[in-house]
Order: sequence, then C-alpha cells, then structure tokens
Amino acid sequence: MHVRLQGTMVNPISPLLVQALKKQKYHLVGNHSAVKKCKWLHESLIHDRPCYKQKFYGIKSHQCIQMSPALFSCTQQCLFCWRAQSGDLQVTWDEMKLLEWDTVEDIVLGSLRAQRAILSGYNGNSKVNWGKLAEALTPRHVAVSLTGEPTLYGPLGELLRTFHERGFTTFLVSNGTLPSRLGKLNEEPSQLYISVCAPNEKEYKRVCRPHFPDAWAKLNETLDFLSSFRCPSVIRMTLVKEHNMKSIEEYAAIIEKASPTYIEAKAYMHIGFSSLRLTYDNMPGHQEVHDFAECLAKLTSYTIIDESIESRVVLLSKRKRPTRFDSV
Ligand code: SF4
Ligand code: SF4
Repeated sequence: MHVRLQGTMVNPISPLLVQALKKQKYHLVGNHSAVKKCKWLHESLIHDRPCYKQKFYGIKSHQCIQMSPALFSCTQQCLFCWRAQSGDLQVTWDEMKLLEWDTVEDIVLGSLRAQRAILSGYNGNSKVNWGKLAEALTPRHVAVSLTGEPTLYGPLGELLRTFHERGFTTFLVSNGTLPSRLGKLNEEPSQLYISVCAPNEKEYKRVCRPHFPDAWAKLNETLDFLSSFRCPSVIRMTLVKEHNMKSIEEYAAIIEKASPTYIEAKAYMHIGFSSLRLTYDNMPGHQEVHDFAECLAKLTSYTIIDESIESRVVLLSKRKRPTRFDSV
C-alpha cells in the first residue's frame, strides 16, 4: 500500500471550520499549525493545580506550549478525537493531502507569539499567580500533541531540534501509522508517545478509523522499533467505555512486544468535536481506568507507579520512578 504523504494544494479549509476552531480558542499559526491554551496552564496559573505530566515527569504546566504542526491532517479519524475531522460541520477535505509546508522557523516563532497572546489575557486577572505568570512568559516545554498526526509534517525533526536549541523539552504524540517518518526522525523528542487505542485490527478499524487499509500493520511496525529510541517512550491508551476497554490480554501482548518505558492509561474526555461522535457516558471514571490498569499490570511485567485521579490517568512502568525533566 502506497501512502500519499506529500502534495501541494490550495488551502481547502473552509472559513466555517476556521471560524469554529477560533471559537474553540485555537490560535492558528501559518497555514497548518495551531496553539491552544491547555486547561492545565490555566489551572496552574490560577489555582496552582498542575497537570499530571508535571506530577509524573516534572515539566511545568504554566511553561508549556500545547501545539500541533498538523492541525487539519491525520491518518486516522478516531471516534474519541477532539479535533475537527473531515465531515464534521458538513465541511470535508482530504485529511491525508498536505498543505504546502510552512517553515520550521515560522512555526516556532508563530507558536511563541500565540503563547504570548494567550498569556496576555491574564494581565488584568487579579486571581493569577504573578510569579508563575512571569515564568510562563519564558516557556520551557512544548507538547506536540494538540491535534492531527505530527509526522505528516515533513521537517518534524528540524522542528523538534529548533525547539531543543531554544532550551525547550518536547513531548511528541504520534499514532504510529507512519513508521518510515518516525524511524527517520533526525532529532528525537524528549519523550515519545505512541497511541495504542485498540487491542486488535478489527477494533482498531472501528475505533481509530484509519485512512488506509494497512495502518494497523504500520502501527505494529512502529511498535517493533519503539525500544530503539534513546528517549523515554510511552504507549498511550485513550480508554473509551463500551468501545475499547476489553480484550486486555491482547493489549498486554502488544505492550510486552513493544516494551515502552511507560504506559499511560487515560480516560476519554467528552470535549471538542468528539461530542459529535460519542456521548458523556463513554467517559470512564477514574476507578474504571484504575481497574483496567490493574488488569494490565497482572498480565504484563509493568506495575502501577503513579496516577492522577482528576485527570483519570494511571501510569505503569518497569521502573520505580519516571525520568523527570525538572532540571533539564
Ligand atoms: S503537558 Fe499536556 S496537559 Fe500538561 S500543560 Fe502541557 S499540554 Fe497541558
Ligand atoms: S490519531 Fe490523534 S489526532 Fe488523529 S484522529 Fe486520532 S486522536 Fe485525533
């Protein structure tokens, strides 16, 4: 199967969709990237409540940029995805056909500008922690995870390198369907996430709805070389009640084969455009996520090492403690 990866076309994105994204507080950067304020940046600035990644890995929520270089493009159409997918809002486009790539420098500078614009909204806010706001103006971490499949952006390695050269740590989240891209990254992220949200091909096709027929095989190809990355790796499982919280023994076999540094089992959240596809009842509670993780621990060589009740996420590893990025 030949996967179309590159192409140039006029911007197919309708003003209706752009308007809807802006309404959801996406800050569009150039032609295909975006930054969005993470809920936890706000919680950290106002209520001193950081995200679970600060708790687990030491990155600072108030100094984190949540962005994507692939706002409109993905190789999958997961049921649980919060991004706008072709067909939502009666707008359609070819999600595999790329727009002309913006330069790395434009994306980095545009992302920094967007983050400053987000933070400027706190200037008149009497509830903000001023010390943290001052620190936030010098962001230190980039979550390349907002939406879309980032490996569709060709110069992704250069993008990561440019952020690293500017003193950032980076967490990259990929669905793993483009192993040729991931395998050739000329710069590793600080931590690599691969999403595994189905226990087998049949469920994968139903829940993750890939755009090409051998996507499951491609994901497994990625998992085959996951342990060759020098950076810590994570298998991320977004758990959706009544959809993918079954066949745990099959998940366990996948995990043992891929041997990631960590597993994050996390509840689906009923937000964004996912509410067009799923219901509130599809969100598992924390106890259900914990029970799932416990079953996984029994069936694998991993143990539960931490969890966050408010984010409904459980962390498993063979290590006693995760690598932290506080001092990087
Ligand atoms: S690491 Fe993720 S959850 Fe934490 S602040 Fe950044 S984007 Fe939000
Ligand atoms: S892989 Fe990620 S961005 Fe793509 S549809 Fe699934 S959840 Fe959304």
